Amino acid sequence: MKILVINTGSSSIKYQLFDMRNESVISSGIAEKIGEDLGILTHKRNDKKTIIKQKFIDHKSAFHIIEKLLIDKDISAVGHRVVHGGEKFSGSVIIDREVIDAIKENIPLAPLHNPSNLEGIYVAMELFPNIPHVAVFDTAFHQTIPKKAYLYALPYSFYDKYKIRKYGFHGTSHSYILEKVSEYMRIPSRKLNLITIHLGNGASITAIKHGCSIDTSMGMTPLEGLIMGTRCGDIDPAIPFFLMDHINMSSDEIYKLLNQQSGLKGICGKNDMREILNEAIKGDSFAQLAIQMYCYRIKKYIGAYIAILERVDAIVFTAGIGENSPYIRCLCCSGLESLGVKLDHEMNQRNRIEISMQDSHIKVLVVPTDEELKIARETMRLISKLSHK
Ligand code: ADP
Repeated sequence: MKILVINTGSSSIKYQLFDMRNESVISSGIAEKIGEDLGILTHKRNDKKTIIKQKFIDHKSAFHIIEKLLIDKDISAVGHRVVHGGEKFSGSVIIDREVIDAIKENIPLAPLHNPSNLEGIYVAMELFPNIPHVAVFDTAFHQTIPKKAYLYALPYSFYDKYKIRKYGFHGTSHSYILEKVSEYMRIPSRKLNLITIHLGNGASITAIKHGCSIDTSMGMTPLEGLIMGTRCGDIDPAIPFFLMDHINMSSDEIYKLLNQQSGLKGICGKNDMREILNEAIKGDSFAQLAIQMYCYRIKKYIGAYIAILERVDAIVFTAGIGENSPYIRCLCCSGLESLGVKLDHEMNQRNRIEISMQDSHIKVLVVPTDEELKIARETMRLISKLSHK
């Protein structure tokens, strides 16, 4: 059975076609710069890479070419990444009119993401009309967070009327990691207490108790929490008013400042951790400061999540930085011995799965994430339910 997974952004479409018999990737690719003068589509199948450079007026014109490149005509279903499911979706769903309306309703909560996700759904449904389409939400895994953790201390009516609350994101990744750790430790998910740390361009940390998310660092939007490539994460909410009142910045300018010009980039001018680590080694003090700040924030959250979980089986690092940087993992875990975390520096240096000492109360693990595969699995699960009806 073949499942196509699609992740549509405002000017891009990422896709992967899976053969679910062995969960292998048949082909994958990305169309970028949609709507710009010159777009680029990179398609991979086996070892062959095809690059097409041309103008894509819109998502539909890019998708037409993707469909031709895919060759395989026996695709059974399409799984779509949808960023914001609001409070309505605590799991993945087969897309119908009602689901589309609900994704639309959530546009005010994710004005940059949900409209492009919807566009991807419309175009794919037109090109693949006779197969099921499934929506997998970034927010769904976090719907188990209790009210005391997801509410902000604003007047309660703001939650009632406007649905202002923490939703959390990267749920597909955090739940995939939970599954992988459950396999690795041979403990059922429902018995596991974990702290999962996703460190990619975006970054978030989740406290998982008995297999359920009970808190996460991202909030109503992905801006809250950890320091990220270009996002500031937690700041004093009074700062935007200061910027408005004293520097005359508009809300648009502040939005861009906090989302695109802050985080690691704001401190040292770069947002790619590999480059920052190189600069730091060469002695760049701003790169060194950015790394210190980045790891300090993560460590603070680890401490907080150990406190709320009460018992932690493992701390798990994932995504580009979490999977590949022994130095960052070491800084995040340093000094946590009194809380039961003892890193094995040799194993850490070698990027092994288990990087804690045998006698560490809390295991420290490195587990590669695969959000596309998780979306493909969810899609399979839902369509096999359909065929049993
Ligand atoms: P995305 O959120 O776009 O999926 P990734 O999970 O691919 O991002 O992570 C991208 C980040 O991972 C970048 O900051 C990149 O520099 C970092 N990264 C990748 N490899 C390494 C490495 N070997 N050491 C440190 N950082 C790395």
